Order: sequence, then structure tokens, then C-alpha cells
Amino acid sequence: MDFPWLWIWLLPVFILGSAVGSFINVVVTRIPTERSLLWPSSHCLSCFRPIRWFHNLPIIGYLWLRGKCGNCHTPYSSRYMWVEVCTGFLFVGLFVAEFLADVRGVGWSKLFLYEMKFGLIPLRGWAVFICLAICFSHLLAASLCDIQSLEIPLPITITGTLFGLALAPFTAWPFPSAPLSVPQIATWEDLLRKSQIPVGIMPWPFWFPVPWELEAGSWQLGLIDGILGMIVGALLCRVVRWVYSFSRGMEGMGVGDSDLMMMAGAFLGWQVVLVGFFLSVVPGILVGTGQILFKGTQSLPFGPSLALGCVISLYSWPWIGPMVKPLFFEPVLMGILGISSILILGASGIAFRFLGGPSNDISSGVAS
Ligand SMILES: [Zn+2]
Repeated sequence: MDFPWLWIWLLPVFILGSAVGSFINVVVTRIPTERSLLWPSSHCLSCFRPIRWFHNLPIIGYLWLRGKCGNCHTPYSSRYMWVEVCTGFLFVGLFVAEFLADVRGVGWSKLFLYEMKFGLIPLRGWAVFICLAICFSHLLAASLCDIQSLEIPLPITITGTLFGLALAPFTAWPFPSAPLSVPQIATWEDLLRKSQIPVGIMPWPFWFPVPWELEAGSWQLGLIDGILGMIVGALLCRVVRWVYSFSRGMEGMGVGDSDLMMMAGAFLGWQVVLVGFFLSVVPGILVGTGQILFKGTQSLPFGPSLALGCVISLYSWPWIGPMVKPLFFEPVLMGILGISSILILGASGIAFRFLGGPSNDISSGVAS
């Protein structure tokens, strides 16, 4: 890309990310045990003395102290620093993917050529960046809790969902493009054959062409997009859980997984979480195989895979979008596919029950 001045943002964005990572550390340490985020201030877990502000700086604090408490010299985990480093790179990755590489195909350089030539990110750009950064930060915090304790705390997913719903009316599709740039589609066949749907924060509105009296870019459309994303996200894992536990006679997915998808849906819309759900099988299998090989247990966190699936789905939308377009805007086809997936899932659950397939430890005593 020919916007060399944009690179000056990478360091500030990394510092912002590592500061958010520092807060994620506090959230992940305190929320699962129902402690307050604000009180007491950060303290050493060994001598309980408060940590001085310059020792508490992200990454630098850990390196400065060489991983030991500044007061009693008890070593503390380097995990805190790695979360800060990873969040820093997550934010840099988001910035690069969005503005330098335009992976999602928003068309930033067409929309704001003049600003970006001089290394400026337009306000609409920062709005998109902040929305996605809030979404990813919540997904990361939820995933870390899931890895740590196999549970996704409700306060994280509820907060994230409320953020998503609150932001949705202000960033209605096709934001950041102007609503007027939306092509008027005559028929469904037109849409399938040639039409490019402009990409917003949520790549697509819940339906296209936007139905009824709803206008592209209106707060009503944004709110409906957020609510529908939330509902589909919340129901996806629940339906799988119900069908599987009904047919198999044992627990399927955790409730926390549904809450994580509800949160992702409120930010990204129903299409992205639906595709993300299927994509999460790939990281899920990798994580599961690794876990069985190295730890020998089958009880594994699925939250990180779901989060990863949704992010992959969002960024591969320029390729996946056209493929799922014929399916996603045809209610009959969608319905048939949905019902047959449920039937297949139920049938495989029953088959597993009688064949004695793999069981997990949560309920191996219950299943018979
Ligand atoms: Zn100490």
C-alpha cells in the first residue's frame, strides 16, 4: 500500500493495546472470583503491598522488575506480560488489517484517499477501529477465562453484548461508507449475479436489499442488526446443546459458549457468527487434539475456538461472503439447511449413544 505515513500509528496503537491488555489481566484475575475491578488497587499476591504505578506499566513493569515483586522479590507469572504483549499485537494486527491491508474490503483508500495520504485516519476509521477493538478485547478476556477455569463469566459477555448493542445504532450498515452509495437492487437474481454489497462494521445488514421502511445507515437498521446478531449468536450453541443433550443423553456445549457467541453477534451481525460457528470446528479440532496428546483430558475450552472462528469469518468475508450469498438471502433454502443440520446432529447423537462413542468427563457418570 502506498500510505507510508500510516506506519507512524503502529507504536501508539501497540501501547494502547498493551494498556488494554493490562486491564484484561485485572478482569481475568478478578471477575471469575467475583472481586471488584476497582478496589483494591493492584497488589502483590505474596506481600499484599500495592504495586507502584511505574512498576505497573504494561510490559515495561515486568521487564524492569525482572518478574519479581518490587517489595518482597517474590517472582510472579510472566503470563501477565504475555497477555499485554498479545493484546498489543492484536491491536496492531487490527489496525494493519483494517487500514493498511483493507482485508475486509471496506475500501478505505477510496473513501478517504486524501486523509490517508497524509497519514491521517478519519474519524469514521477510528470509530470502526474502536468498535472492533472493544469486540476483540471482550472475546480475548472471555477466552482467557475459559482457558483458565473452563468457564466464561457472565459479567464479561453481558458487558460486551451491551457495548455491541449500544454501538450498533451509531454505526449502522453500510457505515463507514455513505448510505447513498448502496446500489438499488431490482430483483433477487440481480443481487446474486452481480451486486457487491458494501462492507460495514457488520459486513452485511441482516437482510439485503434492506426491507420494509428501513433505510441504509439509519439507527433503526443498526439496532435491529445488533439485536438479531445477539439472538442468533445466543441461540446457535444453545440449539446444538439442546439437540445433542436430548439425543445423546449428555451435556454438549457450555452455556458460556452461547454467551460468547451472543456477544460476538451483537458486534458482527448474524451472518458472521453463523459462519464463524462452523469455522470454529477447525481450531477446535486442533486445540482438542493438542490437549488430548499433551494433557490426556477431553474436557477442553471451546470459547477460544469460537472467538477465533468469528474473527476468521469476519476477515475472510470478501471470500466467504459471495459463497454464502445465495444461501443467506433465500429463506426457504436457509430453513431446509437449518432443519437438516439439526436432524443430522440429533441422529449422530443417537448413534453415539448406542455405539458408545467418545464421552466427556462432565457427564461420563450420567450417560449409560
Ligand atoms: Zn510482594
